[in-house]
Amino acid sequence: MSFTSGPLQRRASVGVRVGQVVVGGGAPIVVQSMTNTDTADADATAAQVADLARAGSELVRITVDRDEAAAAVPHIRDALDKKGVDVPLVGDFHYIGHKLLNDHPACAEALAKYRINPGNVGHRAKRDSQFSTMIEMALKYAKPVRIGVNWGSLDQDLAIEMMDANAKLPEPRDAADVTRDALIQSAVGSAERAEELGLGRDKIILSAKVSDVQALIAVYRGLAQRGDYALHLGLTEAGMGSKGIVASVAGMGVLLQEGIGDTIRVSLTPEPGGDRTREVIVAQEILQTMGLRAFVPLVTACPGCGRTTSTVFQELAERIQSFIRAEMPGWQARYPGVEEMSVAVMGCIVNGPGESKHADIGISLPGTGEQPAAPVFIDGEKRMTLRGANIAEEFRAVVEDYVAKRYGGEDTSHAAQ
Ligand code: SF4
Repeated sequence: MSFTSGPLQRRASVGVRVGQVVVGGGAPIVVQSMTNTDTADADATAAQVADLARAGSELVRITVDRDEAAAAVPHIRDALDKKGVDVPLVGDFHYIGHKLLNDHPACAEALAKYRINPGNVGHRAKRDSQFSTMIEMALKYAKPVRIGVNWGSLDQDLAIEMMDANAKLPEPRDAADVTRDALIQSAVGSAERAEELGLGRDKIILSAKVSDVQALIAVYRGLAQRGDYALHLGLTEAGMGSKGIVASVAGMGVLLQEGIGDTIRVSLTPEPGGDRTREVIVAQEILQTMGLRAFVPLVTACPGCGRTTSTVFQELAERIQSFIRAEMPGWQARYPGVEEMSVAVMGCIVNGPGESKHADIGISLPGTGEQPAAPVFIDGEKRMTLRGANIAEEFRAVVEDYVAKRYGGEDTSHAAQ
C-alpha cells in the first residue's frame, strides 16, 4: 500500500557512463562505496572490492596515493575479473594524481573513473597545470571524472578570494554562507574548466561533501541549481554506528526527496573489526525505504512491547532477514522481481494480522497470553496457522515456496496451502 501520489520527480541531469554503470540521466540511483585497504596490497584490496560488490556496491572507489598503489591497480582489476567481479573501479587521487596517471598508463586504463579534488591539486599556477593534466588524462583514456570538493580540503585561494570580496560588501554575509558558496563555486568552476579543456558534460560528476547535515542540504540545493551535472551525494565523515547512519539518512533523505542525487555513498566509520559492507547495505536501505529502488525483500517487524515478553519474534525477524539476504544472489537470477517482495514479522494480534495483510507474506506471532498459534497471511489472506517449536523453519519454508511460485512464474493462489 502506498500513500504517495506517484514516483518522486528526479532532477534532470546528464548521464555519465562509468564502465557499464550509468550515473544520472534518469538512470536508477547508483550505490557506491570505498575500500579502506592499502591499495598497494592488491590481494587485500581485490578481496574487499569483491565483498563490497557482492553486497551490492555498483561502483567501488580505491585510493591511489603513491606509485605502489598505482602499480597495483591493474593487478586488482585482473584479480577481480578472474573472480567474475566486473564492478567498475574508481581511483581516488589527491596531490599527485596528475603524476601517477601519467607515470602508470596501465592504472589509468584499468580505472573506470578518476576522482579529482580541486582543493588538493596544488596552488595557483601549479593547480591549473596539474588539474589540466588530470583532465588531459581523462580525455586520453576516455574516462569520466568526479570533481569532488570537500570542505576539509577546500581550495584555499578561492575561499580567501571570496571571503575578501565578502568583507568589502556594505553588509557582509555570514562566513558559513560564503564557505558554502565557495564549495559550490569550486566544484562548478572546476567543471567549467574541464569542459573548456574538452571534457564533455557527459564525463563529469560533481560532489561537494561536508559533515554537517544542514550544510549538506544547503550545498547540494545550491549545486543542483548550477547546471545539470550528475551529482554524487554523501556526507563526508558521517561518523560511527547509529550516528553515522542517522546523519546520512537525515541529510540524504531530504535531498533525495527533492530529486537531488544520482549516486550515493554512505561514509560510515566501521567499528574496529566491523564489516565494511555495512555502508553498502545502509545505502541500499535508504533508497529502498524511500521507494526509489528495490534491492532485496524488506522485512517489516514491529518494535515489540509489553505484549511480547519473549524474543521469539525478534529472532524470527532477524533469521528471516538474514535468510533472504543470503538467498538473494541465487534468487535474483532465478526470480526476477523478487526484490520487491515485502515480508512482515509481527509480535502480537494488535497490529499483527493487519500489517501482515499489507505485506506479500506475513506472520503474526502470539503475544503474551494469546493462543500459541501464528497465523500466516499470503497476498492479504490468511492461509495457514503455524504452531509448535518449529515455527521459524516452517515460516522460512513458506517464504521459499512463495518466492518460487510467485517469482518463478507459477500461480500463487494456492501457494503453501
Ligand atoms: S504488534 Fe503487538 S507486540 Fe508488536 S508492538 Fe504492536 S502491540 Fe506490541
